[in-house]
Amino acid sequence: MPPKDIAIVGAGLAGLACAKTLAAYDVRLRLFDKGRSPGGRMATRRVEAEGQVLNFDHGAQYLTAHGAAFAAALDAAHAQEWPDAGRRVGVPRMSSVPRALAEGMDIDLQRQVTQITGGPGAWYLHHLDARLIRPGRPFPTQAPEREGPFDAVVLAMPAPQAGALLAGPAPHLAAVLEVVRFEPCWALMLAFPQRLDLPDAIRLESGPIGWAARDSSKPGRDANQELWVVQGGPAWSREHLELEAEQAGTLLLEAFARHAGGSLPAPFYKAAHRWRHALVEVPLGAPCLWDASLGLGATGDWCIGARAEAAVDSAAALVAAIRSS
Ligand SMILES: Cc1cc2nc3c(=O)[nH]c(=O)nc-3n(C[C@H](O)[C@H](O)[C@H](O)COP(=O)(O)OP(=O)(O)OC[C@H]3O[C@@H](n4cnc5c(N)ncnc54)[C@H](O)[C@@H]3O)c2cc1C
Repeated sequence: MPPKDIAIVGAGLAGLACAKTLAAYDVRLRLFDKGRSPGGRMATRRVEAEGQVLNFDHGAQYLTAHGAAFAAALDAAHAQEWPDAGRRVGVPRMSSVPRALAEGMDIDLQRQVTQITGGPGAWYLHHLDARLIRPGRPFPTQAPEREGPFDAVVLAMPAPQAGALLAGPAPHLAAVLEVVRFEPCWALMLAFPQRLDLPDAIRLESGPIGWAARDSSKPGRDANQELWVVQGGPAWSREHLELEAEQAGTLLLEAFARHAGGSLPAPFYKAAHRWRHALVEVPLGAPCLWDASLGLGATGDWCIGARAEAAVDSAAALVAAIRSS
């Protein structure tokens, strides 16, 4: 019989798509995410600098729909074409796409799930306030809160993170995930006082930079601003993964200046973000992971491939598997 009480951990595209489809059935759902807002890697960072509000799409850059389901999700979110007819972006920011999916959903935000305990039919999630868990700081000593029991738990997060949570209750599932590999990515956000003499979207096959885009050229953005997102290529990002953000940002800015012909005006905002799990390098090769006897499963882009649509397709496959349990 399909599970009735389901917890989904992760409110990126995969978790949200899973929740939206499951909500049509007679199930009780809880959705948890460690972030301040849903969306995961479909992210937009909002900052204030020099009296201006700046929005940077520092995660996914553009979306391509190969299938009808993702095309419909993009239509529903009013995504628009950029930089050409084959690609689309969220409007007025990339995070608008997951926000549209999340509409009307209750999500427990800033809750980092640290452990799954219990057993089939009665799983428990243990979670901490994510604001207390900071890289480089001691792990919080307070006792995590416990939620449950749940008949089923779905992990909708990058495979290495899902594997860490599954290692206790289902080591055989955690072992299956070990095949999955991600490319890391350093993403540099820059705001310039004047327009740069460069095209809106730049892809480079060698050197430190893999991609650079004039974020402010996307539809629905403030065209008076000159905002850029510059991504380190996968090899460069991997080699420089453990740098401090300030240092990685400076190196990428120097590389961007070289690409621009030697010099650039000084940016009035500069910040780098490290994505340890950015794009899928080696996928699982199965549309989702589901153990019906345990009531434990996992979903995400990493099941299928390196694009956002894969997250939605994987979620659809997991819901189908859960419903046929
Ligand atoms: C820099 C970058 C560029 C990209 N460019 C593109 C592109 O141009 N085109 C494209 O199609 N795709 C691109 N992608 C990939 C795209 O963003 C992903 O395929 C998609 O967003 C994956 O969705 P997901 O739901 O599978 O995972 P995620 O978006 O990673 O969602 C996982 C969620 O789980 C939460 N979480 C993790 N662990 C826990 C925990 N322990 N407790 C609670 N919550 C937890 C996270 O906060 C997150 O919200 C890019 C990604 C990055 C990082």
